[in-house]
Amino acid sequence: MNESSKIRVRFAPSPTGHLHIGGARTALFNYLFARHHNGTFVLRIEDTDTTRSTEEYIEAIVEGMKWLKLDWDEGPYRQTERFDIYRSYVERLLREGKAYRCYCAPEELEQRRQEALAQGKPPKYDGRCRNLTEPLPDKPFAVRFKMPQEGATVVNDLIKGPIEFDNNVLEDLIILRSDGAPTYNFVVVVDDIDMKITHIIRGDDHVNNTPKQIHIYRAFGWEPPQFGHLPMILGADKARLSKRHGATSVMAYKDMGYLPDALVNYLVRLGWSYGDQEVFTRDELIRYFSMENIGKSASVFNPEKLLWLNSQYIMKEDAKDLAEAAIPFLIKEGVITEGQQLDIQWLSKAVNTLKERSRTLVELTSALKYYIMEYVEIDPKAKDKFLKPENLKYLSELNELLSGLSDFTAAELERVFHSFADERGIKLGAVAQPVRVAITGGTASPGLFEVLEIVGKEKVLKRISKVISEG
Ligand code: GLU
Repeated sequence: MNESSKIRVRFAPSPTGHLHIGGARTALFNYLFARHHNGTFVLRIEDTDTTRSTEEYIEAIVEGMKWLKLDWDEGPYRQTERFDIYRSYVERLLREGKAYRCYCAPEELEQRRQEALAQGKPPKYDGRCRNLTEPLPDKPFAVRFKMPQEGATVVNDLIKGPIEFDNNVLEDLIILRSDGAPTYNFVVVVDDIDMKITHIIRGDDHVNNTPKQIHIYRAFGWEPPQFGHLPMILGADKARLSKRHGATSVMAYKDMGYLPDALVNYLVRLGWSYGDQEVFTRDELIRYFSMENIGKSASVFNPEKLLWLNSQYIMKEDAKDLAEAAIPFLIKEGVITEGQQLDIQWLSKAVNTLKERSRTLVELTSALKYYIMEYVEIDPKAKDKFLKPENLKYLSELNELLSGLSDFTAAELERVFHSFADERGIKLGAVAQPVRVAITGGTASPGLFEVLEIVGKEKVLKRISKVISEG
């Protein structure tokens, strides 16, 4: 086994919300790092905070990961299923004198905290129970970890470089609450060791937890893994990305008609770069990904760029795949019913005409309506401009002509329209634009003759007749 095949990373979301943009980027970087090194990607659900974690959010996170095709190799592990493991590690630290029972009641702690603050001292635990020699029977206790009080801890962060922390600011951390629940910084370390994690890639909101975690590793005699803390994602106003800046949940982008590969491509560029390249295939991302190319500064989330990227992906996506991806949207919009059989080959043809003009699947769906539905809604402005009585006169004559056509192809239709216009000494537009409005409901569409061919003779005749009768 070579060195790199031992690489193991994890994504460790707390299920207290949906998978959001920041979390998805963390997951993606871990995934790419693992795939690049032929390593292992672990999914671990950090659900120790039972008041805020829900099953629904666990499912939502898993759903988001699957949609983005960030497939993991192990897990999802759940911390709430591992409490016995954590407790045995707490016991070990107690036995070795590296942790101690703290009997201070929450009210006393709060009072002492207030006093310290009033005296201008840091409100850190005063270590009252650190040197008790005998346990106090029948008194509830929490377990605290003995943090070193002196010296400094240097984190050699793979992204930020060395960061030094003074140990004297660290307080003796509670690792087991009096209700028997182990706490976050402790279980993370136990899990990362137990799961043999070699690199921890996570958001830089965890930087300040790192020295605490390093001391726990050391107390067990374990070598800490390598850390890489990802700079934040900001909104356009440079505040931390939040709902105020628009949708932050990954699945909201699915609903808005984004392709998962486009979102992945956008997310990877929030902090990582490879020369000037903007558009990457998944294989390229895996091949090129490296921690060295992650920037040190925060990135700004730019919805317009994401939309642009999505349009690029739609443009180059296979028409049949797009047609299939559009089906749930067509159902949602009521254009087709669930279970309705649509000829996918035919739908792909329609999609092909729209690929260049649709930035999202929602836009694509809205344009597909005029291919699929029997009749279309006509934009009133387009009607006023192009369906005037003089236009309708031409449409009647044209409909006659079209009804007799046996070859309803774009090429034949083009020939028929031209000779129709020539014979009457009118411009092609004088008949083509009213037809476009009658067939698509608006004034902009892909090439008219292609549209007519795909919509098909029967619906074309019906729609023209309808605008004539509604004159
Ligand atoms: N559960 C933590 C979070 O969702 C992540 C912890 C970690 O990656 O170490 O922020």
